[in-house]
Amino acid sequence: MMYNVHAHRVLIVGGGLAGLSAALFLQHQGVRTVLVERRHTTSPQPKARRINIRTMEMFQQIGIFDAVLDAARDLADYQFMAAGPSLAEATRLPHALPGGLPDWDAITPATACLCAQDLLEPVLRRIAEDRGCDIRFSVELTEFEEDADGIEATLRRADGSTELLRADYLIAADGAGSPVRRRLGIERSGRGTLGQAVNVYFRADLSELVRGREFNLCQIENSSVPGGFASIDGARRWIFMARDGLDRTAAEWADALRIAIGVPDIEVEVLSVMPWEPGMFVADSYRAGRVFLAGDAAHVMTPYAAAGANTGIGDAHNLAWKLAMVLRGTGGPGLLDSYHRERHALGWYVADQSSIRTGNLRTMNQQSTDGTPLADPIAFILGQRYEQGAVIGDGSSHTMSRLDLAGQPGTRVPHYRLADGRSTLDLIGTDFVLLTGPDGVVWKDAAEQVRPTLEHFRMDEKWCVTAGVENTGAILIRPDQIIAWRTPELPADPARVLAESVGRILDLR
Ligand SMILES: Cc1cc2nc3c(=O)[nH]c(=O)nc-3n(C[C@H](O)[C@H](O)[C@H](O)COP(=O)(O)OP(=O)(O)OC[C@H]3O[C@@H](n4cnc5c(N)ncnc54)[C@H](O)[C@@H]3O)c2cc1C
Repeated sequence: MMYNVHAHRVLIVGGGLAGLSAALFLQHQGVRTVLVERRHTTSPQPKARRINIRTMEMFQQIGIFDAVLDAARDLADYQFMAAGPSLAEATRLPHALPGGLPDWDAITPATACLCAQDLLEPVLRRIAEDRGCDIRFSVELTEFEEDADGIEATLRRADGSTELLRADYLIAADGAGSPVRRRLGIERSGRGTLGQAVNVYFRADLSELVRGREFNLCQIENSSVPGGFASIDGARRWIFMARDGLDRTAAEWADALRIAIGVPDIEVEVLSVMPWEPGMFVADSYRAGRVFLAGDAAHVMTPYAAAGANTGIGDAHNLAWKLAMVLRGTGGPGLLDSYHRERHALGWYVADQSSIRTGNLRTMNQQSTDGTPLADPIAFILGQRYEQGAVIGDGSSHTMSRLDLAGQPGTRVPHYRLADGRSTLDLIGTDFVLLTGPDGVVWKDAAEQVRPTLEHFRMDEKWCVTAGVENTGAILIRPDQIIAWRTPELPADPARVLAESVGRILDLR
């Protein structure tokens, strides 16, 4: 057995979307990591495809937006939903959102995309490796112990050899079955299993059939093969998702798919048949000592809101800067407790909202299964708020029935176009940022006194309206683009008030 005395700062277990994103966000923060993944390659299954706007904003922040968009190019024109008795007879559904389509440029500098997981994971892996992250596939975490100074992990390579590795912290991004979560005895709560389903991944040349009505999802309303097609590359690779026919063989599925496609003699090659159980399971604690759960290890949800992977990537984004600050000594240890407080509440809400969606494309934004109000679809992605954690609330109101980003602490900083074309989101780097109104000159000195790395930007009057402050007011933004604190106007002693706020948020005593 080899003993690795050069301690890594963070050990990431799992090379799925959550783990690879954690490696990238931590690298952006300058934290040394090692990621281990027991499989020899990234996911062969194209499960997640919808990479939402908030995730793309996070990718933009670390400079990988274009690479992800490039990987998503095959499905760039596949944003519509469709429905019909077969694929051949399906027509596009109106691209409707309650309240109409927003002016995207007014709310975000990014854009969502459809990129199948089996395409996205290799992109994240390659960029992480190019940026110097230590990514080790075919390596399994078999045991770990926490002691006073850190984590001691036993890693086993594919050839059976083992290595002991020390790290300050461990991120368990090891999937729904999370061996780490089980080992820690962390229970899960939620609505439990919500049925059974099957994903049939197949190859067929449907490029001519879908031309002119390219779709993201196409619902098949047909009593013999009900279900839905999902575009993977928009030409030859597709998924059919169904809740019936779970016991069909691959050959029987090929026949069923021909009926669903509506072309009796089309050549179909079934690549895999994957039964799975939609459900809602949220870990009761996202943290145990030096171990943090992220991604499906922390929350499993139905795919009807396309939020599982996006929420996992959001976990990693939330955790990375906190670990970085605690490791650098610029954040107190209590900062890490805010990870559970913020992400557990959010993970629960997102998983619950996913559970009450039926997956019916005709009614998906209007009807919930049990009468629980559905969040507005855009607010659901961009408009969430951390009510508690590393934020100082100011009693301001907030709703999820429409996008309501008005500078409230706990929400994502409103996107505002600067004179040079950049967004306010582009101002946020690896540390806190103070944005103030045009008359907030004295904030510059206050910021320098309180935290030398705290950047200060003076904004214009129009911006003050979007942030809910007067011309002398200020908002303090965390590295994850979340507003931590706001003061509507200049306090009598700005440096003292700022120091107190920063100290409280970062648990600096
Ligand atoms: C049909 C379907 C459609 C979906 N669509 C969407 C969508 O459109 N948008 C969306 O956001 N989400 C979607 N999801 C959800 C999404 O696929 C998952 O939430 C996401 O893939 C979970 O990523 P993860 O990194 O947390 O876990 P995983 O991808 O499960 O990765 C965990 C990894 O950890 C590894 N591992 C486990 N134990 C160890 C160990 N001891 N040592 C080393 N490695 C280990 C595993 O091998 C695995 O590779 C969908 C899911 C399904 C089933």
